[in-house]
Amino acid sequence: MKNKTAGKILFAVFAVALCVAAYFAADLAFFQYDDPVERATLSVVNDGEALSFTYDKDAVTLHSGDNTTVYALTYSGAAVVENTYIESLPSDFAGSFAAVQTGIREDTNGDGVTENVTRVAKTDMEYTQGYDATANSFLSDEIPFEVVYKDRESFTVYFNSEPVKNSEITVTLADGTVKTLTTDENGDITGLNLNDVRNGLTFTYRPDALNTYSINYQVEADTIFTTRWLSAMLPFGIIILVSAVCITLDVLLRKLLYKKEKLPVGKTGVMARDKRRKRFVFGFETIRWIIMILSFALLIFGSRLTGTVFSNVQLPVFACPYNLDQLTGSACYMLSHLDVLVSSWKEILAFLGTFLVCAVLLGRILCGFVCPFGFIQDVAHEARQALHIEGISLNERLYNILRLVKWVMLIIFLGIGFVGGNFCDFCPAMALSPALAGFKLSLGLGGFVMVIVLVSGFFKRRCFCNVCPLGFILGLTHKISLFKLKKDAVACTECGACYEACPMGIKSVFTVREGKGDIREIDVTTSDCIMCGECVRRCPENNALAITFCGKKIYNADRMKFMKQYAPPKSKKKGKNHE
Ligand code: SF4
Ligand code: SF4
Ligand code: SF4
Repeated sequence: MKNKTAGKILFAVFAVALCVAAYFAADLAFFQYDDPVERATLSVVNDGEALSFTYDKDAVTLHSGDNTTVYALTYSGAAVVENTYIESLPSDFAGSFAAVQTGIREDTNGDGVTENVTRVAKTDMEYTQGYDATANSFLSDEIPFEVVYKDRESFTVYFNSEPVKNSEITVTLADGTVKTLTTDENGDITGLNLNDVRNGLTFTYRPDALNTYSINYQVEADTIFTTRWLSAMLPFGIIILVSAVCITLDVLLRKLLYKKEKLPVGKTGVMARDKRRKRFVFGFETIRWIIMILSFALLIFGSRLTGTVFSNVQLPVFACPYNLDQLTGSACYMLSHLDVLVSSWKEILAFLGTFLVCAVLLGRILCGFVCPFGFIQDVAHEARQALHIEGISLNERLYNILRLVKWVMLIIFLGIGFVGGNFCDFCPAMALSPALAGFKLSLGLGGFVMVIVLVSGFFKRRCFCNVCPLGFILGLTHKISLFKLKKDAVACTECGACYEACPMGIKSVFTVREGKGDIREIDVTTSDCIMCGECVRRCPENNALAITFCGKKIYNADRMKFMKQYAPPKSKKKGKNHE
């Protein structure tokens, strides 16, 4: 008993220490990114080629002709770059270069008339690799023609620092494709995607028959497998490291405190079960892992394949849209910024449409199969099992506490935007896919919350999912979802294995004995069920549980498979089993 009290005090001290560490972590481990552009060396190469910037891993190079002036954007305006080779940039350098080449006389459109040509090149270093709420713009007299890359879909075009409204702009992509696009009343053009931008593109504007202006726009080329990509992943690496330290301390502490006592086992007896090793059998779980891995990859790098085709699909999972490379948009961002969303009907309709389609067709199976955040928790759980470390089982009372926490999370999630806050400031998902895709983000408290998610997910499977506000909202559609969990109350022997196995602590799967209609097909789907299929896999009775799609069984409990996976190995000595 003494040990238990001492343990509780130590855990409380440990938790407070973590909170204090988190306060400092915002500036240390999860530091604010300060663009390390000093590493760039700007070279002006006078080789007579068309004006453009090119990136060569960590260095930016300007290929230019004569009559060229190079400018660096600083917080106090455009500063002329006079040196041919620059080792250190102005201290208030804001991350962009522009070069302007004048005095060219050419017939650019082949109409036999020689025009005055002004060529501009502009590059925003790391713009597409990091989140910057304000796009970089010179808007200076020295740079007569400029484009400003606003977000993953649009540019604003400026001529003499004024937006070019309702005018034709010719856009030439890196592969030679030429598009004629028209600016809107704000000077914006859309229809280009991140991949076009990454490859470099040229905008040409002819205000009259005698003058032609063109600008080549280039951002840092693909950074995957470069030092910058690694540096973007650094905070995630730190999170893993801090989580590993916390887990090790926890394991040591528990060994110390409970060495003479049995570890506390919850009412469900999950710990005892965990000792039983399962054998590999190809089936539903294998398919689930394959889909989870594919979804994870697509939600990190998918738009590199598809561009912005799916960017209006607001997938209801925790996938951070600050990763501009992810396949789809994210309902988590929309729902936590309802204050902004309600300002645009177009966005509301796009959001509601895709959200409802996903919710009805898939429901919380998205949690079990697609959400990257669910995946990372499952990886943590598997790591614990591989290391043969005891998990922590929760009893009903603790699950009820988590349900209360979930309501609090929901109120914060939906309401924080209306009181001037930003859920993303402490959202753990920000630490995951943007970092892996190479987007540099300042994590602040989100990094700390991610440590909590990983450590809790390590000891208690899908711990965060038990309090996840997005999962909660998704669960509200369980009645209309096409995927269902069905129970045959006749085949069920009330062994309780399904309850023990369920990562969401759903007791009704075990206790329900009757429902509407046939007792051999009772719908036991609840709003918490993530359709992971764990209960079906652990059920030892043929057909007692099944996951169905449109009423058709796609996975059902199977005694033979259960025996194959969990039956104790036969002892070499006759009559003896290992466990
Ligand atoms: S409940 Fe889990 S799996 Fe579902 S959206 Fe939330 S974090 Fe993702
Ligand atoms: S595991 Fe199967 S047999 Fe056991 S209580 Fe659950 S549904 Fe019934
Ligand atoms: S009830 Fe079954 S399918 Fe649903 S979350 Fe629990 S174990 Fe997974």
